Amino acid sequence: MEYISTRGAAPALDFEGATLAGLASDGGLYLPREWPRLTHTQIRELRGLSYAALATRIMRPFVAGSLTEDELGALCEAVYGDFGHAAVTPLVQMDETHWLLELFHGPTLAFKDVALQMLGHLFETFLERRDERLTIVGATSGDTGSAAINAVAGRDRIEIFMLHPHERVSEVQRRQMTTVRAPNVHNIAIDGSFDDAQRHVKRMFADCEINQPLNLGAVNSINWARLMAQIVYYFHSALQLGAPDRAVAYSVPTGNFGDVFAGYVAAKMGLPIERLIVATNVNDILHRAISEGDYSTGETTATITPSMDIQVSSNFERLLFDCGGADGKRDGAAMAAQMADFDEARAMTLTAAQRDGAAALFSSARADQDDTARALQWAYRNADQVIDPHTGVGLHASLGAVAAGHVKPGTPIVTLATAHPAKFRDAVERAVGVRPALPSRVGDLFGREEHYTQLAGDYETSRDFVLKHAAASAS
Ligand SMILES: *Cc1c(COP(=O)(O)O)cnc(C)c1O
Repeated sequence: MEYISTRGAAPALDFEGATLAGLASDGGLYLPREWPRLTHTQIRELRGLSYAALATRIMRPFVAGSLTEDELGALCEAVYGDFGHAAVTPLVQMDETHWLLELFHGPTLAFKDVALQMLGHLFETFLERRDERLTIVGATSGDTGSAAINAVAGRDRIEIFMLHPHERVSEVQRRQMTTVRAPNVHNIAIDGSFDDAQRHVKRMFADCEINQPLNLGAVNSINWARLMAQIVYYFHSALQLGAPDRAVAYSVPTGNFGDVFAGYVAAKMGLPIERLIVATNVNDILHRAISEGDYSTGETTATITPSMDIQVSSNFERLLFDCGGADGKRDGAAMAAQMADFDEARAMTLTAAQRDGAAALFSSARADQDDTARALQWAYRNADQVIDPHTGVGLHASLGAVAAGHVKPGTPIVTLATAHPAKFRDAVERAVGVRPALPSRVGDLFGREEHYTQLAGDYETSRDFVLKHAAASAS
């Protein structure tokens, strides 16, 4: 499979190249040149496969040319063979219509483990093959950082620098990053928001002074391999609910638009998804973009769902590119121009093709803090489920989906449960009066010493820190 940039000016790469590159050299994001399609018969034949076997079948066309089916199968077994739950991503019924897809059974209690555990193995395989090293720089609103650090800690050919916004991640999130003791792990707390951290990271990729000597790699969901791994659980859950003979709707707590974009890819591959609901908190740029075509940034507001406290959603560019050119075709040059304008104005209006393309599959909803708390209470009272606030934002959208005309009555609605409630237990306790216990697999999180460096919020300070410390450990 060949991968092309959303901005049309970077060389096409194979899967291995796109995985190691992360961001394309023209500032765009990689996407497969075309979407592989499965027929209904082929989808029906996937019923009953184990998660690892299903993952192999779904990812096979995307890695063709870079991994053999046997290599991919072995990776999937290694990654999904020892998750905290035998089903990897179990589906839990709440009532006739509503289901929870539990994505938090990995080592760091958020859905990001599902993809980042895979990415860690992919990096290792490709770096061995090339006899190269990689310096990962990433920005995190909390969960990516812990999942990425867990996935690469102690690996020989990888060094990781993770930037998080100081005092804007939960204590469990911070400790999951800062208590990992491995010489290749560097935690940085910057004075600023997640968007500042993400902007610094993107700038490092475009900055030859750092990208050339260090061979930078990305673990944010700008990395295609992450999205690819997330396609699998849409198939896994829809097959259980009757696909391909019955359509399913999903509500996805959304920040960077990675998780829900994986659902879009599943639909492109032929999975009958009736609707993808983009659920946001009060940082609602995506809700405004999808409902009104207005993609304009504001100030980031800190909420009880920090992993969604985002203004600029990197992966939205992938959707705009895929449906955005004239006649709904892809147009890299037009995308590059649109993004250049956006970088200037911090705002853009979607084209008619982009609005129509998005409206064909996506709806959106927004939850404030009270809506979120009410959704947690609904789950607790009606289904005996203690859910995390991010999941609550998604559930709020699910509960209103039929009334809002987003989903037909009778269609199963699956809310993606993106984090374990114990990861955000203060907010959960305030909403439902229950303090969820941390699962034993996270170990002695509160007894271990923390290690991180606090830095000023400007770009140069972060860049110089990475240059200095990466160099120090290489020499
Ligand atoms: C990362 C994250 C999200 C947002 O996912 P995106 O792929 O960035 O849209 C939602 N909930 C939790 C718990 C997360 O960690």
